[in-house]
Amino acid sequence: ARAEVRKLPVYNAGLSEGAVKERYGISQVTKLGSNENPYGPSPFALDHWKEIASSLFRYPDASAEALREGLSRQTGIDTDRIVIGNGSEQIIRMICEAFLGPGDRLVTVLPSFGLHLIWPQMMGARAEAIPMTPEVRFDLPALYEAVTSAPLKVLMFSNPSNPVGCMMTGDAMQTLINACPEDTLIVIDEAYWEYARSTQDYADSLSILEKQSRPWMVLRTFSKAYGLAGLRVGYALTSDVGLTAVMTRVRDPFNSNGAALEMARLSLLDQDHMLRTVDATLIEGRVLKSALEERGYFVAQSFANFLFFDARESALALAERLLEHGVIVKPWKEKGYESWIRVSIARSEDSHAFLQAFDHVRQPLN
Ligand code: PMP
Repeated sequence: ARAEVRKLPVYNAGLSEGAVKERYGISQVTKLGSNENPYGPSPFALDHWKEIASSLFRYPDASAEALREGLSRQTGIDTDRIVIGNGSEQIIRMICEAFLGPGDRLVTVLPSFGLHLIWPQMMGARAEAIPMTPEVRFDLPALYEAVTSAPLKVLMFSNPSNPVGCMMTGDAMQTLINACPEDTLIVIDEAYWEYARSTQDYADSLSILEKQSRPWMVLRTFSKAYGLAGLRVGYALTSDVGLTAVMTRVRDPFNSNGAALEMARLSLLDQDHMLRTVDATLIEGRVLKSALEERGYFVAQSFANFLFFDARESALALAERLLEHGVIVKPWKEKGYESWIRVSIARSEDSHAFLQAFDHVRQPLN
C-alpha cells in the first residue's frame, strides 16, 4: 500500500449490538455510541418499503434526481448544486480525494469527527486540529490564527461539533470564513443541524455562505434526525455548479442505492415525524444532562443528539466496563480528552439503562 495508507489510523466505528451480545453473553443491549435516532424512520416512508424493494432489480438513478429535487425544494439550493453521497462520510472522502494532495493543509478542530482527520491523511495532506477551549467551545482566536498563518486548502469542521455538541455562532462563523484565503474550500459538516436549527443560537450557515464568493460546501445527512443511518444517504450543498462537477468526477456512478434514495425522498416529505423525534430527543437531552451534572460531572453544552462529558477516569476502561453491562458509548482517545465519553441521547428508557450501568461501574468522584 502507499506510505500514507500504511500509516493511516483505522476509524473506530464501535461494536454492533450483535457483537456485544455475543462477546458478553447478554440479551439486552443499549446502543448509545453512534448518535442514531431510536424512534426510527418515518412511518409514511416505511409504508412504501415493499414497493421500493420490488424495484431493486434496477440500477438506481445515478443522478439521484428525485431526491435532489426534494432537497432543492427544502433548501432553496438548485438541484445542480446538490451532491448525494453514500452517507456524508463518503462526501468527506470525495472532498479529500478531489481537493487534497501531498503537503496540502487542512484545518479542523480537536476533538473532532474521526474522518475529518483520517481522509486528509490518506491523501498525504496535513490535517491540523485546533483544540477546543478548556470549556470545550470553539477556540476562535486559535482558529483565526490557524487559517491565516499559512496557505490553507480546506477548512472543515462540524457544527454542531461532534463529539462536543457545541455550536459556532453566525458572527463567529462569518469572521472565521472572512479570514480564510479567498480560494480556501470551506466545508461545514452539519450532520446534526436538524437538532440545532430550532435553537436561538443556530448559525444559519447557508445564508452566511450564499453571500460569499468563495468555494464552500455544507454537508448534511439522513442518518441522524431522519433515522436512516442503516441506509446510508448524505448530501452536500455546494457553492456553485463547478464544484458539483468536480465532485461528480470523483463519485462512484451508482454510489447511492435505490432503496436509500427513495426512502430519503419520502422521509423528507414527512417533516412532522422528524420534528417530533427531534423534540423528544432535545427534551430527553436536558434530563440526561441534569442527571450527569447531579452526579458531579462536567457536561459540555450540546446542540445535538449526544452529550460529551468528562468522566474523570480512563474513558476507554470505563466504556469497556459499560460494555460488560450491555451499554455502548464512545470513549474519546484523542490527546487531552482521554477521560471524556460521548453518549447518544435516545429514549428515556435508554438513559435509565445507561445511568444504571454507569452508577454500577463508575469510580466515585473525589
Ligand atoms: N459527519 C459527522 C460530524 C458525523 O458525526 C457523522 C456520523 N457520525 C458523519 C459525518 C457521517 O454520517 P453518515 O455517513 O452516516 O451520513
